[in-house]
Parts: sequence; structure tokens; C-alpha cells
Amino acid sequence: MNSVIIVGAGHAGVELAAALRQRRFAGAIDLVSDEGEVPYQRPPLSKDYIKRLGSPLVLRPAKFYEEQKIGLRLGVSVAAIDRAVRSVILSNGEVLAYDHLVLATGARNRRPPVPGIDHHDILQLRSLTDARDLAKRIRNFRRIVVIGGGFVGLEAAGLLRLMGIEVDVVEMAPRLMQRAVSPTVSEWFLKFHHDSGVGVHLSRQVEAVEHCDGRVNVLLAGGVHLEADAVLLAAGVMPNVELAAAAGLEINNGVVVDDFLATSDPAISAIGDCAVYPSIHLPGPTRLESVQNACDHARTLAARLTGTLQPYDALPWFWSVQGAARLQIAGLTKPGLTEVVRGDIGSGRFSVFLLDDDRLQAAETVNSPADHMLARRLIVQGARLDPMALADNSVELSDL
Ligand code: FAD
Repeated sequence: MNSVIIVGAGHAGVELAAALRQRRFAGAIDLVSDEGEVPYQRPPLSKDYIKRLGSPLVLRPAKFYEEQKIGLRLGVSVAAIDRAVRSVILSNGEVLAYDHLVLATGARNRRPPVPGIDHHDILQLRSLTDARDLAKRIRNFRRIVVIGGGFVGLEAAGLLRLMGIEVDVVEMAPRLMQRAVSPTVSEWFLKFHHDSGVGVHLSRQVEAVEHCDGRVNVLLAGGVHLEADAVLLAAGVMPNVELAAAAGLEINNGVVVDDFLATSDPAISAIGDCAVYPSIHLPGPTRLESVQNACDHARTLAARLTGTLQPYDALPWFWSVQGAARLQIAGLTKPGLTEVVRGDIGSGRFSVFLLDDDRLQAAETVNSPADHMLARRLIVQGARLDPMALADNSVELSDL
């Protein structure tokens, strides 16, 4: 194989380029990014970046791409794929041939079909441009409405409160981070944000956003109105699959790949937020939005492209920083698991272990990083734990 083209220079695309070189791949690597920035880390955008501003945290220093002979093309997108001749057409008209093509196109914010949500004043937090825009405008804000009580919305809410801004979070589900965490952890974060002064509106759908003289009026189902200086949209993401779909690749809430991250065309792979894959940790097709998933996908694919075939089986893990609270998740949760709490919920340092029978399936830890690290190891080992002993704080977790 002489040439690899990677579409998208987020966590997955950059890690793949670096891992290929680490594995001594000597062919051409082109890394095409429709963003105009040296590739950067997204997680800080909703954590401390807004407060500290300055330079973003780059994934690799600019000189890395030059030194490693990685053709980083910024501010240009891949507009089409010609599978018959194995080439891509760039938005500037250039045509590049590939031996292997990798889609690392990530995801973009979902916009619920609500009147007023497409207005140019609506703030978002997906890209560095979004974060800079928010940081610039925030100085004039006293009150903001965040649409979405998932990770990004709650991280932003925590940060904005620390900056003295009044915040309302509107979530249509009956609890916070419903898709990702247990009711116990949702409940704890509800109280935490409430105690920090965030107004949380659960089971509430936004019906319209009215814009008037630089202010907004957010209308919720049930007749509630929230007036504010701005709205931050954080209602989840959708995978960027249009390029793959137009090329006739299989799509199902993401670009469908097999255990080895190959699409329905063996000359094309997909990794990161845009890829839906068969996880060994959950039944059914899985698509994750996390740095771990993007980077581990990239490393698995780099191994295959350099001759080491291994299925993707990494353990998912995730973190979120909301105000002064740190949440870490190991493994993936599913309905019907047994919940065991360790630590003291009231003190704000505790862990929820989720067992499938007595086998550890997932762990959610709040301000307890040691439990998180241990849980990762135990899940990978397929550890079987006695729920009674697990709940007993006098028994060391490492002794179980
Ligand atoms: P992305 O990072 O989305 O990169 C894809 C890139 O491809 C983008 O630059 C996109 O513009 C580009 N692209 C798309 N189509 C084309 C095309 N046709 N041509 C050229 N370029 C194209 N995860 C965690 O694990 N922990 C966290 O705490 C955390 N916090 C987050 C906070 C925020 C504010 C956000 C937005 C995300 C956060 N995430 C976090 C999620 C994490 O950042 C993503 O899972 C990760 O960025 C996925 O990497 P990716 O490379 O698959 O996609």
C-alpha cells in the first residue's frame, strides 16, 4: 500500500496518521480537514478553554506534520469519493488518488426542528470557532439558556456558573445524561447543578426560540418562558455520513464498519464518531462519541493497515468535568444491570458499579479517579464481584 487519505483531522484522523508513522508506514499520508486550524482537542472547549482562552490545545504541534511527512491540508473538504478509480475530489477541485481511504469525519451538532433554532445568534460548542464566538460574546451575558442536559450542555452550564452567569438548562428527558449514566448519577448531578444555582428544567421540550433586539425568549412546552441574553444549543450530535452515503457505502446512524473497522468497500475504513461498529461490550451496532473511542479505533486501524489484523475490542471509557465535579465512566451501561454504590453519595465522592449478574459491566465514578482506574482493569479482566462486599466501604476495592 502506497497511499492513505484520511478525511477529517479530529482526534481519530490525527491519531491514525501518527500511529501509521509510528508503525513505520512509509507511504504517502494526506490528512484533509475542512477546518482552518491546526488540529486541536475538542474536550477543553466546554471545560476551561472559554475561561482561559489563548491558544487551543493542539493535538500535535504544527511542525509534527512536516517532520512526519503527513500532508496536512487545512480549510479544504473532501467533496466526493470516486470508488471506481479510488480517488477523492476536494472542494478546491483537486483530485487525489488513494490505495486506502479513511473516513474520520466525526459528528456535528443536532438541531431539533424548532422555530428560531437556525438563527445566527444561536451559540454552539462543537468547534474552536464556536468556542471563540461564545467567549467573545459571553462578556455581555447575564443569563443564558442551554438546550440539552447531556455532557456538553452540563459542562458548559457548570463553567458559565463559575463565571457568574445565570444558567437555565432545558432537557426533554426526565433525567440528566439519561443515555449514558445510571439514575443515581443523574440524580446526584441534578442536585449538584441545582445547588450551584443552575435552573434545570427536565421533561421539557423547547417549542420555539424568539429573537428580539439581541435577546431571546425560549418557549417551553407547558407555557413556560425563559428570557435570556443567548441560547447555547447542546442537544446531541449526528454523524457526518453524507460523503459516505453519496459514495454508496452502508449507513445506519453512522458509517457501518465491521470488527476491523472496514466499510462495505474494503478499500475504505471509518473510525471515530462517524463509525458504527459491532462492539463486544454491547449487543447491536454501537456508535460512540469519545476521545478514547476515536483514538483506539485509529490505533486498531493503523495496525491493520500495516499488517497486524486485530478486531476492535477496546474498553470504552469517558470523562466529564462539570463545575467542580469530575465524572468518569468505564464500560457501557445497558438496561437491567444491578447497581451497587460505594463511597458516600452525600460527600460527593462515590462510585456506581453496574453488574450483569455478578460480572462487572460498567462503573460510573464521581470525584473518585482511583475507583475508575481499578474498574477499567476489573472490567477488562471479566471480574466477578460479590455485590455485598462491593457495597461494603470497609473492604478495599483492590481486595475484592
Ligand atoms: P471530530 O473530532 O468531530 O473530527 C472530525 C473532523 O472531520 C472535523 O474537523 C470535521 O470538520 C472534519 N470533516 C468532516 N467532514 C469532512 C470532509 N468531507 N472533508 C474534510 N473534513 C471533514 N470526549 C471525551 O471522551 N471526553 C470529553 O470530555 C469530551 N468533551 C467534549 C467536549 C466538546 C465541546 C465536544 C464537542 C466533544 C467532546 N468530546 C469528549 C467528544 C470528542 O471530542 C469526540 O468524540 C472526538 O472529537 C471524536 O473525534 P473524531 O476525530 O471522530 O471527530
